[in-house]
Amino acid sequence: MKKLSLVVPVYFEEDCIAQFLKETIPVLKGLGLGWEIVFIDDGSTDRTTEIIKAFAGNTPEIKLIEFSYNQGKQAAVSAGIRYASGDYLLYMDPDLQDPPDEIPRFVSKIEEGYDLVFGIRKEKMDSGINKIYSKIFWGTLNRFTGLKIPKGLAVMRIFNRKFADKFLEYSEQNRFIEGIFIHIGMKRTEIEVSQRNRFAGKSKFNFKRKMELAFNAIFDFSELPLRLAVNLGISLSFLGLIALIVIAYIKFFIFDFAAGWPSLLSAIVLSLGLQLFFIGIAAIYIGKIYKESKGRPLYSIKEFTNFE
Ligand code: UDP
Ligand code: MG
Repeated sequence: MKKLSLVVPVYFEEDCIAQFLKETIPVLKGLGLGWEIVFIDDGSTDRTTEIIKAFAGNTPEIKLIEFSYNQGKQAAVSAGIRYASGDYLLYMDPDLQDPPDEIPRFVSKIEEGYDLVFGIRKEKMDSGINKIYSKIFWGTLNRFTGLKIPKGLAVMRIFNRKFADKFLEYSEQNRFIEGIFIHIGMKRTEIEVSQRNRFAGKSKFNFKRKMELAFNAIFDFSELPLRLAVNLGISLSFLGLIALIVIAYIKFFIFDFAAGWPSLLSAIVLSLGLQLFFIGIAAIYIGKIYKESKGRPLYSIKEFTNFE
């Protein structure tokens, strides 16, 4: 019998866990597959782990990995994929934005022989500003990285063991999971899923965190900012040279004029600013190389529950 693993990152989700399990377990039991739920707690200090452990006490299929401290959703999902043992892995959040009754559709789709099935949001429950943000985020990302990430990606997605093993070969510290999923390629399809509002609690991704994510994603999957620096540098140097020749020509052959220091000053300030800006871009990459070169573990785990 094949086995399905749910991979579920949790961070301050005490109000969602019980409802999540109440809705999920009957669906899993009805699949006719083996199953497990792998929760990864990303350092919550509320009752999240206590509640999960209470459920895990009478249900060995409910498993918990506890991070030592908050290490980010990307790390949590990576750990979940590492320790899940199913033939199929389904990644979803516990906030019920993607409804558990969609699970059977994901399973039957992957059983058609795909390696990865993305959920696409049928309708978006997000507020106006979030919608605009999403548009800009995914638009810029696709343009910068050439990754062609499908529009309106839901959180829910399912993939098989082969795909999970390939994912685990990606050893980078800076990890943008959606990017890696697309980069893996393999046989991929999409299905539409209905959406609900977050069951309880608040989103942990405010605008600032989302911007950070976008920023990192671009730098992790693109060298375009570096090429931009080179191109602009070349264009400006060329422009400077032309200007020099033109000015010299006018001064010597047409009419003599006094040098204007304001224009000189603004040219200096502009070029200094540009230089700093592009040194900064290079520095961001250096910082990332530094982080990669240390090769630290991706996450630090405090405790396992219900793992052999
Ligand atoms: N999450 C996490 N670590 C964090 C922040 C969030 O593991 O540092 C989890 C969180 O518990 C949730 C998922 O990531 O299961 C997505 O977060 P959320 O629902 O707050 O984001 P949104 O759906 O609003 O983008
Ligand atoms: Mg959510």
